Amino acid sequence: AIWNLGSINADMVYAVPHLPGPGETLAAQELSQFLGGKGANMSVAGARAGSHVHHIGAVGADGHWAVERLTEYGVDTRHIAELSVPTGHAIIAVDAAGENQILLYPGANQAISTDQLGQALSQAETGDILILQNETNCQVEAAKLGRELGLKVCYAAAPFDADAVQSVLPYLDFLIVNEVEATQLEIASGLPAAKLPVAQVIVTLGAEGARFFDTNTDEAQDFPAFQVDAVDTTGAGDTFTGYVLAGMDRGMPMAQAISQAMRAAAIMVTRRGTADVIPDLKDVRETKL
Ligand code: ADP
Repeated sequence: AIWNLGSINADMVYAVPHLPGPGETLAAQELSQFLGGKGANMSVAGARAGSHVHHIGAVGADGHWAVERLTEYGVDTRHIAELSVPTGHAIIAVDAAGENQILLYPGANQAISTDQLGQALSQAETGDILILQNETNCQVEAAKLGRELGLKVCYAAAPFDADAVQSVLPYLDFLIVNEVEATQLEIASGLPAAKLPVAQVIVTLGAEGARFFDTNTDEAQDFPAFQVDAVDTTGAGDTFTGYVLAGMDRGMPMAQAISQAMRAAAIMVTRRGTADVIPDLKDVRETKL
C-alpha cells in the first residue's frame, strides 16, 4: 500500500476581466471549484494506477466535498482528519489572456497532528511506501517514523524549499524532483543529483522526459517523453509521481514503472484540469501515443 501525507486544497478559479491591482475591488464573472493540492493529486494518481492509497491529511468543516471526491476517486480517506481550521485553498484569478494570480492558504494542511500521523502509520506494513511533499507540516516526523517502521520513504521536493529537503534527506529511500528543483537542490547541497545520499533519485525534465539515478549501482538511465500536443501541464509531475509509486508498490521493475508513469503524464498534459482528469490504467493502456 501507499501512505501519502499530503495536502488537500480547494482550487477556486475566478474568471476576471483583468487581474486586480492593490486596493481594487473587482467582480469576478465566473467561479469554478476543483479538488487540488499536490498531495491529493498524487493520491488520485496512485489510486487510478491501481494501488491502495491511504491519504493522511486534514480538512476543515468546509472540506467534506473534497474528502467525498477523494473517496469517489478510489482513495482511502479514513486517515483524513476534520479540524476546526479552514480547508487549504487557492484563490486563483485568471484574466481573459489566461494570465493568473494565486493566493494560497494552507489552512488544515499545516495543522496535522503527530498523534494522527502516528495512528495512521501504525497500520502500515513493512515494505509499504510513504510519500511526502512540501505542502504539509509533520514532514520530518513522518520521514523518521517511516524509516523506523521499515517503509520505503519517498519525497517529492515541491514546492521547493532547501531547508525542508535537507531536514528529511537522511531518512529518504527515494527522491523525485523536476529540473528546476534539481538545480536548486544541487546549489543548496553542493552535490549533483546522482551523488545525493538517497538510494534512488528521479529528475523529471518536462517534455524532455526523465532521468533515473540508482546510487547503489551508480547507474543513470534516461527516459525520453512521449510526444504529445500539450494543452495544460498542471498536475503532470503529480501524475507521474503517483504512477511511479504505484508501479513500485506493485513490484514493477523501475524502468517499467517510469515508462508507465510517462504515458500517464503525457495523457495528462493533453487534458485541462487537475485531480479530476488524471488518467486511469485503462486510459494509459488504450491511448495511442
Ligand atoms: P512538474 O510538473 O513537477 O514540473 P515535469 O514538467 O518535469 O514536472 O513533468 C513531469 C513528467 O510529465 C515528465 O517527466 C514527462 O514524463 C511528463 N511531461 C511533462 N510535460 C510533458 C510534455 N509537454 N509532453 C510529454 N510529456 C510531458
